[in-house]
Amino acid sequence: MAGGSGAVTAVDRTEEALRLPWLPAAFSPDTDPLEVIRWALATYPDLRMPSAFNLNGVVLLDLAYQAGYRGEVIFVDTGFHFPETLATRDRLAARYPGLTFVTLNAGAHPEDGQTDPTLYASNPDACCAARKVTPLQTYLRQQAPSALLNARSRDQAATRAEIPFVEDGARVKINPLAHWTREMLEAYAAAHDLPVNPLYWDGFLSVGCWPCTRAVRPGEDARAGRWAGQGKTECGLWAGEGRL
Ligand code: SF4
Repeated sequence: MAGGSGAVTAVDRTEEALRLPWLPAAFSPDTDPLEVIRWALATYPDLRMPSAFNLNGVVLLDLAYQAGYRGEVIFVDTGFHFPETLATRDRLAARYPGLTFVTLNAGAHPEDGQTDPTLYASNPDACCAARKVTPLQTYLRQQAPSALLNARSRDQAATRAEIPFVEDGARVKINPLAHWTREMLEAYAAAHDLPVNPLYWDGFLSVGCWPCTRAVRPGEDARAGRWAGQGKTECGLWAGEGRL
């Protein structure tokens, strides 16, 4: 299954190639994500895959498995996840026994002393930093993978509209689904009978922690339900000073 969002132009491709000269010249917005993943596995054999098991993540996990990935799938338990999200993780772990599912902060709870239990309301940036970014950064510093496989796509939000297949930085981030649309992801999930988080079908197009996630309203982008009304759009893993 290959294709582009239609919003991507040759200019995007040229800019991407200029920033990342080692990117295969044959890559274009229409390149099949499987091809990107196979290239990533060959180029960065130690790559790892963090995931929160949203629709994008579940599709990427299946594609990565098809491409031969047998490494870790790393999930950060903030203590505020919906039970449906934890159940989705467990269903995926059962479906892909060849992968190693790692849960950081396993068993975290709002009352565990890690943060003020209501910090999400007074300072969500600090809450995300303590409960999500720091555990993953600490783990990745220990493991030191050269690259990360990530499931973000351009049509999730205006703030993600420029995501390339490969991002440079402290660690290389490979985004095979950068050019896939929500419709393409849903079609793939249906065709492969993937265990999508059931909250997705109730309008939670991007599922994070329960205090900071609401269902998306008609016409909103997929991430509009995350930290709605708080002036915050990212947890800090993929954007900002502490990004991976
Ligand atoms: S999403 Fe909300 S509850 Fe979860 S870590 Fe961030 S601020 Fe805290």
